Amino acid sequence: MIPFDLRTAFLIVGLLYLLLPTVTWILLTGWHSCQVSLWCSGGLLIGCSLLLVAMTGKLAEWATVSLATLVYLISLFVYIQSLRLDLGIPWRKRWIAAAVMVIFLTFEWFHLGLQNFSLRVQFNFGVAAGLLLYLASLAWRIGREEQSPSARWIACVYGLSAVSLLFRVITVMGSDRVTNLLNEGLSSQLIALASLFSNVIGHFGYIGLALDRSMRRELKAAAELARDEEGRRLGKQIAHLDRQRAIGELAASLGHELNQPLTAILTNTQVAKRGIQSGRFDNTQLTEFLDKIVYNTWRARQIIERIRSFIRPSTSPCEPVNLNLVVFEVAELVAGEARHHNITFGFSPSIRPVHVAGDPIQLSQIVLNVFRNAIEALTLVQRREIQVSCICRDGRAILSIWDTGPGIAPEATGKVGTAFFTTKTNGLGLGLSISRSIASQYGGTLSIANAKAEDGGGARIELNLPALPEEKR
Ligand code: ADP
Repeated sequence: MIPFDLRTAFLIVGLLYLLLPTVTWILLTGWHSCQVSLWCSGGLLIGCSLLLVAMTGKLAEWATVSLATLVYLISLFVYIQSLRLDLGIPWRKRWIAAAVMVIFLTFEWFHLGLQNFSLRVQFNFGVAAGLLLYLASLAWRIGREEQSPSARWIACVYGLSAVSLLFRVITVMGSDRVTNLLNEGLSSQLIALASLFSNVIGHFGYIGLALDRSMRRELKAAAELARDEEGRRLGKQIAHLDRQRAIGELAASLGHELNQPLTAILTNTQVAKRGIQSGRFDNTQLTEFLDKIVYNTWRARQIIERIRSFIRPSTSPCEPVNLNLVVFEVAELVAGEARHHNITFGFSPSIRPVHVAGDPIQLSQIVLNVFRNAIEALTLVQRREIQVSCICRDGRAILSIWDTGPGIAPEATGKVGTAFFTTKTNGLGLGLSISRSIASQYGGTLSIANAKAEDGGGARIELNLPALPEEKR
């Protein structure tokens, strides 16, 4: 190997060790974490220890040997802690302090107590090589777990440093000659070179690792966002399909509902026409018939409008919605079906409007699902009632709907409301789970239980949403 001045070499490597952690720290601005701080501090400490070594002969021995060894030991533990933190297995600070003290005191004991130079060097470099090998194994583990070539490079250079220290352990074995790093030939040159490599590659590798991680984190966040958005989009689509299915199933009764105002319009128009033709109608009578036609046209329009608004894709606006009105509108939608099955509605709306923030169509979908389930359940019993109450309590809007049907079977409790759970032969098991996710989207809950026996003992569904304060309506 080309001989070089060891003092200059250790001085340069020591200064580089001060420089590169600082560069790393500056380059990683914005990504400063405890791990990064520890890694850079570890580098600075090694720099200090190497500069102390470079001062051998110029400073007292306790500084160039004992202090340098202590600082070097601490720096290795700091490096290790940085990588252990990365792996989520940090050591306790107290244990680190105790380990450093035990190693350092043993080292001093070999020196001052036993006055055995060879043992002291072997112990010192042996322990340091062990710690470096451990550091390399941690970096390798990170490289494997994170698929990071930078971490593998770090592992390689610190492994190399460990080998250079082990080489020194071997060279001093059995020798009584008192040497220091500056007057020992090949092994010191190897240590200086390995320190140089581990410094440069270790720090640049660390920058690479940190950037790699940050890119990975950003990619993961972007992928999660995309997944969330995809989930939301699909959720919306499913809810939309469920609304269309619900209206499809109500089509016959809605057609019947529409029939009434249309028939009334037809009848009234014919009577009015005949009255005008026969000259029997005066203006007052004619106005009366025209009013009836206008009213029935308005009713028909309301029904069509309700259906149309219900099946159009929701744009999810978050607007003030009066829950009382939602119940009223949906009750109108299922009125024909309920009449057909002799079901009576009891609705006790609160005196004051109960406002929540949400999409009126999505909130209507919850009420429609609950009403349709109740209607279906009631076809199995004699007493057929659906009760609705809507109140505002402690800043929450609570809409309760209960029926006098058979209720939720004990074996179904807990499963009802989870996706695809159904006890119906033609059911999809989606209605209540969609309703639940709509409720949670607006910061609320949908609880499903059975009503008390005196209330009919059927199912009781409670929608609980944050009430909208008056100033936001
Ligand atoms: P689906 O109506 O397609 O079955 P839902 O999610 O709306 O899907 O309902 C899931 C299950 O919850 C129903 O199959 C039924 O067993 C139960 N359920 C819902 N509402 C009632 C009710 N009012 N009375 C009794 N059981 C009900």
